[in-house]
Amino acid sequence: MPFVALLPWIEGALVGLLAPRLARRVHPGTATWCLTLVAVGVAAATAIGVAAVAVALARPALWDVPVDPDKLAALLLVGLPLLACAAAAVPVAWSAVRDLVAAKTTWRRAEPVNGVLIVDDPDPEAYAVPGRPGLVVMHTGLLDALSPVEQQVVLAHERAHLDRRHYVHVLLVRVATWLNPLLRPLTASIAEQVERWADEDAARAVDDRTVAARAIAKAALARSAARRSAAHSGALRRRTPVLRATSGDATARATALMAPPLPVGRPLLVLVTVVALALPLHSSWGAHAVEQAYDKACEQISRTVHPGAPSEAVGHRKLP
Ligand SMILES: [Zn+2]
Repeated sequence: MPFVALLPWIEGALVGLLAPRLARRVHPGTATWCLTLVAVGVAAATAIGVAAVAVALARPALWDVPVDPDKLAALLLVGLPLLACAAAAVPVAWSAVRDLVAAKTTWRRAEPVNGVLIVDDPDPEAYAVPGRPGLVVMHTGLLDALSPVEQQVVLAHERAHLDRRHYVHVLLVRVATWLNPLLRPLTASIAEQVERWADEDAARAVDDRTVAARAIAKAALARSAARRSAAHSGALRRRTPVLRATSGDATARATALMAPPLPVGRPLLVLVTVVALALPLHSSWGAHAVEQAYDKACEQISRTVHPGAPSEAVGHRKLP
């Protein structure tokens, strides 16, 4: 088996190892896009690579079908990756849809004002429910713990999740992780980056990074205190597809806000976009190499079995 067949897995391991570290060096918006693009690129390359190997191994079976084996192989090389992507997306999509339906069912009779629903609940919580339109849910338990300007920070944070469609980035990375498990470190990284991106938007909304950092820290502290006192973590809330104001490492998020904004890193985004597009193309070349290696192996085997046999007896024809 050619070395190129292993490349998607090597790329997955390298991306899983390096991407989360590199993501922390640029603006979280850039980091989020880079992580999503590279995850999708590696996942597509993996699907194509796996399909290439599957088709190569299945070629003897293809010889008996009444169609051109090359055409069928090409069809499978396209179809199998698509099927793999669909299969990987099903459990992730099912989980997201189930959680979304649970949230929508809960709030179907609610009447949000400007997309914000205030819920009389002592649990200090705020979260975004994706949809058309999306919904921001804020509990009175959290509002009571914050000053008015800090409440604006939390509201801006949750609206940023909806406006930037952070849930799409998170879902795409989760699907990519299903296709190539070596990308798993990216799931935590993308969750961290979307939180920090929403924090940056919230800080810009109130034009004060210190206030934003304080609001994030106070929200996390309130949530932590509520957890300690237990009793408030209902099953529904755990299942809601939330991107909470209290998610992630609040200390790291507040520390990031106390520092100056990171550089946008546009050249990195351009580079990652090119690499992400090149990965599936590169994998297609790898698929061709797999096919060539397989034909060569067939030819060698045939010559070994039939030393004087003409070269036409090899390749796609069935071996005796
Ligand atoms: Zn959040």
